[in-house]
Amino acid sequence: MPEPLYQITPADQAREYAGGVAVRVLRAGWFRPDAGGFFGVVPRPLWQRFTQTDERGRLVLRLNLLLIESAGKRVLVETGTGVRMTDKDRDIKGIEGGDPAEALRAVGEDPSSIDFVVVSHLHYDHAGGLVDASGRPNFPNARYVVQREEADAAHGDELRLAGLMETEQLELIRAAGLLAEVAGEVEMVPGVSVVRTGGHTRGSQAVLIGSSDAGGRADDPQDRAIFWGDLIPTRWQIPVRWTSAFDDYPIDAVEIRNDLVRRAADGGWWCYFTHDPGELPVRIEATDRGYRAAG
Ligand SMILES: [Zn+2]
Repeated sequence: MPEPLYQITPADQAREYAGGVAVRVLRAGWFRPDAGGFFGVVPRPLWQRFTQTDERGRLVLRLNLLLIESAGKRVLVETGTGVRMTDKDRDIKGIEGGDPAEALRAVGEDPSSIDFVVVSHLHYDHAGGLVDASGRPNFPNARYVVQREEADAAHGDELRLAGLMETEQLELIRAAGLLAEVAGEVEMVPGVSVVRTGGHTRGSQAVLIGSSDAGGRADDPQDRAIFWGDLIPTRWQIPVRWTSAFDDYPIDAVEIRNDLVRRAADGGWWCYFTHDPGELPVRIEATDRGYRAAG
């Protein structure tokens, strides 16, 4: 039997982090980006040690969302591709599924129970599911958290970005009164913060999980975690200079990756990757040849 299109970590296997933050991975389908673009500056013989392409030269990657619970609030991280793309676009990009509301319902969760929606940035495979087919917010009771710089970039006049940002969806969310533009590092619920990274896009943000000042009992988990967005989309791109052709600001991306990867490795942070096809989370380890996924 083929595996179900939509899957979630079972509730009793949610991973707990410092401050009582529980995290589950919602697998919301598949997409297939061009392999050369995805690996950018990295020569094919190097990345082919990790993964293969399909007959159209594409990688077969997941759309991974997170469902985070803390202090009685629920945060959904990323919204997948949604359902508003043309059939031709879905075919070129090899999309299966991608509907975040349907994904939640398929695993027994109610989209109206979501209090915060975070999108790491405004590309189609992250912000495509902000709204449903008719343009209504997919998560009617949520505040949608986007970095102000990202929203500004979506409205900018840079030719490279024309047609690449989900500007129309963003404006439907704004018109519904649900948009929360933030700047820099902001804690949404106890132990769950967004932090602007830039690099991939001007206003890309990561999600930091696990309260830094959690006291708690000795047997409480003290772990922390990070959701990288497309700053590091899979475990294969942990080497900090392995930037993608889709990174708008690769020099910035290398610098912020270098800083955050070191912190993640030193702190033993668990890592969630938005397009990784394997089991999550994983930790990062330092080797004499640089950083890599542990295990
Ligand atoms: Zn992406």
